[in-house]
Amino acid sequence: MHRILVFIFLVLSVSGFSQDHSHVMGRKLNFPDIPGYKTLKCDFHQHTVFSDGSVWPDIRVQEALLDGLDAISLTEHLEYQPHKDDIPHPDRNRSYDIAINEAGAHDLIIVKGSEITRKMPPGHNNAIFLSDPNKLLVDDSIQVFREAKKQGAFTFWNHPNWTPQRKDGMATLTDVHRLLIREKLLDGIEVANDQTFSIEALQIALDNNLTIMGNSDIHKLIDWDFKVDKGGHRPITLVFAKERTAESIKDGMMNRRTVAVYKDLLIGRDEFLIPLIESSLKVTAAKYIGKYNVLGVEIENLSSTDITLQNQTGYTLHNNNDMILLKAGEKTTIEVKTIERKPDVSLKFLVLSAVNAPNKHPSITIKTAVEETKQ
Ligand code: ZN
Repeated sequence: MHRILVFIFLVLSVSGFSQDHSHVMGRKLNFPDIPGYKTLKCDFHQHTVFSDGSVWPDIRVQEALLDGLDAISLTEHLEYQPHKDDIPHPDRNRSYDIAINEAGAHDLIIVKGSEITRKMPPGHNNAIFLSDPNKLLVDDSIQVFREAKKQGAFTFWNHPNWTPQRKDGMATLTDVHRLLIREKLLDGIEVANDQTFSIEALQIALDNNLTIMGNSDIHKLIDWDFKVDKGGHRPITLVFAKERTAESIKDGMMNRRTVAVYKDLLIGRDEFLIPLIESSLKVTAAKYIGKYNVLGVEIENLSSTDITLQNQTGYTLHNNNDMILLKAGEKTTIEVKTIERKPDVSLKFLVLSAVNAPNKHPSITIKTAVEETKQ
């Protein structure tokens, strides 16, 4: 009887431990800080009943806390108000006010935002870090950007690949967008939105020096739309900020210090993508296996995304072809046939689960000393 109890206790404690590290079971998103910056998890495109969403703003705050986010924005459509007969709200600050009240006791940053909802062009665009959305209720679709900028806003083009406004799903810059960019009225672009990723939007970001973003554009529930119970998560924007404050996040966004996360894909510029991936992969052991010249390198993936590497070490592997899957939150051992014993190694990999340009992947280097073992 006692033995059975001890056994059950062990099983429970082991599974309890794995809960903190498992991709499927641990819900809070984790991405380590990079040298010089804090890595902040943000979702700057969300809706509630104050436009065409289905929930009260406090639910968005609770979802963000469950996901371990640092900052969110509720970006209600300025021009599309299907619930206004049931929920009249002449003051367009209401959604924010309710969210900030809910977030009060919690450690979540709420950024005031709105969605400027127009036909193409310029289509749908968000303005965040606003002071008063009421002042954005103007007809002219360029003037509304000027008013947002007068308030110090960060602006971005939402889902440029959105099929109702772009039948072929191909994000394409228009003259109106070129004008907005030229006049410094447009700062960023969503490369990931809801269930879509746009490689064309990434190219537009690179060509025009726009901030790369990923957001949920949630209208219903995060858990339902992104199958959180199956290990899914919403698209987010990682912002590399000097401090964990709204002001510092804005500084990061204005200076294009972001990586978008969409499913298990990381999208960004090398300058931030490479330190993010290198900080996410921690060598927890490196030693030759038994008396042989095969080096076992155990790597822990500290991030919430699976990372797929392609071997570019110059050596062949003992337990893999050239592709290596490092599962989120788990330790994986790569066995490298170094021919001779080395005191330290510098291992280069192509990161197939990250893109720095359409169909281009960044390279990372994992350096480690080798523990001395008997030959
Ligand atoms: Zn939206």
